[in-house]
Amino acid sequence: MNRLVRWPFRFSKIQILIFLALGITLFLTPLPERFLKIPVLKAQDFFFTLRYHVTAPPKLLSQILLVSIDEKSIAALNERWPLSRAHYADLLERLMPAAPKVIAFDFVFSGRGDPLGDFRLAQAIERTHNVVLASFVGPDGSVIISEEEIRSVAAGSGVVNKILDSDLTVRRAKLKYQDEHGNLAALPWEIEILRQFQSVSLSFPRKRESRNWVTRSSRVMTEERINFRLKPADVDQISFHEFLTKGVEASRVKDKIIVIGTTASALHDYYGTPLGFMPGVVINLNFLANLISGDHLRELPKLFEILAGLALLAFGLFFALRFDALRGAVYLGISSATFLAIFFLLFLFNYPGDFFTPLVGSWAGFACIALYRSFRMRIENATLKGKVETDPLTSLYNRRALEDRLPAELEKLTLTKGERRGDISSELSVMMIDIDDFKKLNDTFGHPFGDDVLRSVAFLIRQNIRSDDIAVRYGGEEFCIVLPSTQKEIAFQIAEKIRRAVCTSKHTYVNLAASLSVSVGIASARKDELFAMASLIRAADEALYQAKHQGKNQTVLFSGFRN
Ligand code: GH3
Ligand code: MG
Ligand code: MG
Repeated sequence: MNRLVRWPFRFSKIQILIFLALGITLFLTPLPERFLKIPVLKAQDFFFTLRYHVTAPPKLLSQILLVSIDEKSIAALNERWPLSRAHYADLLERLMPAAPKVIAFDFVFSGRGDPLGDFRLAQAIERTHNVVLASFVGPDGSVIISEEEIRSVAAGSGVVNKILDSDLTVRRAKLKYQDEHGNLAALPWEIEILRQFQSVSLSFPRKRESRNWVTRSSRVMTEERINFRLKPADVDQISFHEFLTKGVEASRVKDKIIVIGTTASALHDYYGTPLGFMPGVVINLNFLANLISGDHLRELPKLFEILAGLALLAFGLFFALRFDALRGAVYLGISSATFLAIFFLLFLFNYPGDFFTPLVGSWAGFACIALYRSFRMRIENATLKGKVETDPLTSLYNRRALEDRLPAELEKLTLTKGERRGDISSELSVMMIDIDDFKKLNDTFGHPFGDDVLRSVAFLIRQNIRSDDIAVRYGGEEFCIVLPSTQKEIAFQIAEKIRRAVCTSKHTYVNLAASLSVSVGIASARKDELFAMASLIRAADEALYQAKHQGKNQTVLFSGFRN
């Protein structure tokens, strides 16, 4: 592993505290509640589907028969909705001999129908004793109930409304309805059914939680999440029309809860749920099944959620700091999977928790730190590269940089398109500059003064070249300048400018003026006359030797080696 990224990777304690504080604030503020509510619920919906596939349907199902007013029934009866109430009277009369425990209608018989139908239905309900009707709370809060003549003879009537979340999905049901004075006004339809059921013992043990439907743990619950376990296909069903024409075996009815509801899509009673789209009546059956078997979703302690979330966040931050991004992501992926598995296990025990927010939080934290680190790494690498290539005294490039860059420039030269002689982009010049009699200057004024002179010559060089020329301190008082796209005649002019600048600049030591000059040798490489780096520098050196030989303080173009 890269030594540079070792823990704690230059994070001060303060920075780490800030990260932690941010994480905690995120969990404790209503921020996730406000912005993540629906994603959190959607994530939990996924758990409902997963559980549906890995667990058996509730045993209670054998206690329920759904008489469904389906497409076929609507078509066969050839009537507009609502159907004639005489059909329901027929239904009750057929059901009665088979002795069902409860018969529940999932829709409201509001207003008067045809008098004979109403009369017959009321009579049948009265004789049946155990019929539960539905009522409905309208958008304005008004309660739509069944016609008095019918309702007065029923065993009970309950509200079938469900709560629609903002993503148009049903997840919750109210447990009681209050009037404007806060008094109990109505109970849910399912609880009314249960009241009829309570007198009988069920064929399976009830769980402790189901002792009391409305108050649990001495707190009045006004709403509850529906613990979805049923899809329409899981429910024993018979088509309304088929029932009316052919009847049904008594064994499917005896001691059962018979629910009459609509499943025809034309009646628009379909809603989104965690288990997908389903008719309202199947949503009600889910809730009913929850109530009968005490299969309630419970609250995961907030503290547990917070601690688990913080733990995952800490993992995310730790992996981001400790490992490279890829390895960290793999480790965080494994941690996330474990975290998910724990939450799913809790969900199987009816404890749904928010696993979405911690997952998003820890991955976001991980991503932030990983990005920050790669950003820092880049900057550090660039800084290091700069240090490695720079001469500390003059801040020019050093020989190592020249060895990297000159071959690259020569390579570029071979790739340039220009073929014509005189095309500036097809010629590269190299200049060797050596300070004349520098030893003497050092001896006279001392080494520190020599250093100053080196710095000021470097400055003069840099002033007279372009930004993409490469100025290198080649040796003690020797400089090498690579001038890409520069003909040797141009290089000569530049060299002369530098030489004159050095001559005319003042170099004084206390009250003594040091006279200074440089000698320059120039060699060029053309596309059609290529040099290797070594021979190009050797050629420039040769020209420099000639300049020294001819009396120093001058510029010489390379014109061939000495024999
Ligand atoms: P010539 O005109 O023939 O080039 O003579 P010269 O004295 O300049 O050449 P020579 O190679 O004999 O001497 C170069 C001197 O540069 C020797 C060394 O003391 C000095 N020198 C090399 N590096 C540094 C440095 O970093 N600082 C200082 N102050 N002097 C340096
Ligand atoms: Mg010298
Ligand atoms: Mg020298």
